[in-house]
Amino acid sequence: TAMSSVSVPPPPCLLQPLETPQRYLFGPGPSNVPPRVQAAAARQVIGHMHPETLEIMEDIKKGIQYAFQTQNPMTIAMSGPGHTAMECAIFNTVEPGESVLIAVNGIWGERAAEIAERICAKVNTIVKPPGGYFTNEEIEQALVEHKPVLFFLTHGESSSGVVHPLDGIGELCHSHNCLFLVDAVASLGGSPVLMDKQGIDILYTGSQKVLSSPPGTAPISFSNRACRKMFNRKTKPASYFLDMGWLASYWGCDGKPSRIYHHTGSITGFFTLRESLAILAEMGLEKSWSRHKEVAEYLHEGVESMGLKLFVQDKNVRLPTVTTIAVPPGYDWREMTAYVMKHHNVEISGGLGPSAGMVLRVGLMGYNSTKANADKVLAALKDALKHCHKSKK
Ligand code: PMP
Repeated sequence: TAMSSVSVPPPPCLLQPLETPQRYLFGPGPSNVPPRVQAAAARQVIGHMHPETLEIMEDIKKGIQYAFQTQNPMTIAMSGPGHTAMECAIFNTVEPGESVLIAVNGIWGERAAEIAERICAKVNTIVKPPGGYFTNEEIEQALVEHKPVLFFLTHGESSSGVVHPLDGIGELCHSHNCLFLVDAVASLGGSPVLMDKQGIDILYTGSQKVLSSPPGTAPISFSNRACRKMFNRKTKPASYFLDMGWLASYWGCDGKPSRIYHHTGSITGFFTLRESLAILAEMGLEKSWSRHKEVAEYLHEGVESMGLKLFVQDKNVRLPTVTTIAVPPGYDWREMTAYVMKHHNVEISGGLGPSAGMVLRVGLMGYNSTKANADKVLAALKDALKHCHKSKK
């Protein structure tokens, strides 16, 4: 045989066809993607600076402004998952040595604190156990004590199933010269958020939850107040990729007529995000909010009527997109989630971070938010309770 320069052979697995199962994605995300959005994903790629792409990016900007209820010109979609937006928000608005305040009532606050730590911010936290939330008095007290430049709050805590009240917090932050940053990855579109009215300075979400797009793009918006802070910094943001100076130009948010290449955007992700935002615009935000609430309450009733307990006691702060169910005594949550996957093709998940071992999580978001899907989950759970091992203690 002739000498070959190739010493690593083609992997046999790649010589087999791609296979992906059909599943009901009823965990905390991603959600199933509706056919219209799937069709958008199948379109041929075009250039990231082509006029048609730039027009789609403009459509996306308007769609995000609607979904976020904001007039902010500084509104874009990041190429990347929700974490990209988390880091973008914190990396651009905070400089090393500055004080930040992070509300921790689940894993997302924990992660935000670690992200801020990595850019050498002075990280202060207020902490509640999973299921808990903060009063405006507690938040104001911490603002006074720590004098942060930024306050981070998770709107939809997908690890605990809590939707945090937002009213009044923006005003408190502003009266203490602090920016208000809200993570709405798990809630946006499924539970009311009014960016401008609620005084939110930085708001982001992900594509793969209520928007029911594939994962990989993350809408984010900055208020004028946030822009003043981030565009007057003394140091450059630690990340080139996440630098809003560059991204503002790529997205045409800087008022200049010509756009400058920064990175190759997730073109296919933009096609799908545009269609998801169009579906939301056609349905209307209020209808989407009320549908998620109605389906969640229907699910809650079903859960309680089979003798299971909802993890979040206070009805008013139950997140309509992700429901947490206390792991039933004597059962192993791993066995239950594996059982419903195996026998019902249904994904639900266990807890995450501080809620690990405490809860089962059921997400019915966007395209998946229907009573028929709630019935599927309930039937699967009922079956799991019957067939999974139950210890006597
Ligand atoms: N924040 C919240 C509230 C989330 O639920 C998630 C996703 N589970 C994220 C942030 C991170 O999003 P991603 O996995 O897309 O990076």
